[in-house]
Amino acid sequence: MSNPGLLKIGGATEEMMSRLTPEFTIHELSEISDLDAWAREHGASVEAVMTNGHDGVPPAVMAALPNLKAVSGYGVGYDAVDTDACVARGIKVSHTPNVLNGEVANTTLLLLLAGLRNFRHDEAWARSGDWEAKGNAPLSNSPDGKTIGILGLGRIGQEIADRLSVFNPTIVYHTRTKKDVPYTYYADLVEMAKACDVLVCITPGGPSTSKIVNKDVLEALGPKGMLINVSRGSVVDEDALIAALDSGKLGLAGLDVFEREPHIPDALKASDRTVLLPHVGSATHETRAAMGALTVDNLLQWKADGSLKTPVPECAHL
Ligand code: NDP
Repeated sequence: MSNPGLLKIGGATEEMMSRLTPEFTIHELSEISDLDAWAREHGASVEAVMTNGHDGVPPAVMAALPNLKAVSGYGVGYDAVDTDACVARGIKVSHTPNVLNGEVANTTLLLLLAGLRNFRHDEAWARSGDWEAKGNAPLSNSPDGKTIGILGLGRIGQEIADRLSVFNPTIVYHTRTKKDVPYTYYADLVEMAKACDVLVCITPGGPSTSKIVNKDVLEALGPKGMLINVSRGSVVDEDALIAALDSGKLGLAGLDVFEREPHIPDALKASDRTVLLPHVGSATHETRAAMGALTVDNLLQWKADGSLKTPVPECAHL
């Protein structure tokens, strides 16, 4: 029997490909110039898709694969995959939970320190000769002892809280449901922002969190407050963020994610009050290897017995 077809959307490591190549007939979406023509020849043979958190499975691609049975996502966030459409067709979807918790927490700490300790400006001061020419760099702010609000206290949010403990913070959080944790719960995000020095966003994307960090939340955080977004760009109202930073109603923003990636608005790039990263929350060799291994494990398990190792909750019943 021939190997099932696998459509690959987005990148993969050599290690991933070396495990997949003997097991699947692999098609690369980026190499398909005419989707309809390709679908007529190969669409029916493709039973699995491997994709990432940014590209998902575009509707035209879903429609071109009548026998699609499994989608393995290379990432924990799956807001780019239409899970309703997948469930309706009986297509199973998996993602890569837990293996990236530590790295995204590291990225959060990086943004926190870079922002509060003025890393961009101090590094430029050292490099440019300003130290010799102008004297000592301006003082910065300590990360110690701050009140830090976590918006989304799930797998990664909890790891962020754990790793922040070296700074002796007061941790508070907002989620839709109260958790069994030793931190103060705020049912209202604006009220939490008022109480915080730093607000860390680490919810999933999608409709339920779209722009929940709005003008009111940003202004409640205040002129000395810092916003850190390592979740999805859609969670923060980017226009309101730019306005709050420009007017000084918000102090600082550390951002790994943006509304229209890879585009970053010029106002955020030009601002003195921002630390910007190109969506690298989990992007280390070590963590991508672990995510890649789990992405492939899901596909191989599905090929062996039709089940997925780490299905997304919406599809776990399939
Ligand atoms: P989890 O599902 O473990 O946690 C999600 C948390 O968000 C839960 O505490 C949940 O609690 C809360 N939440 C969900 N919806 C809402 C809402 N509408 N309002 C308030 N809180 C909400 O996910 P993970 O921790 O594993 O991952 C979180 C997200 O981080 C991913 O979905 C992804 O978008 C992002 N991410 C970003 C990365 C990067 O590179 N920057 C890398 C990896 C992940 P409750 O259900 O009670 O509301």
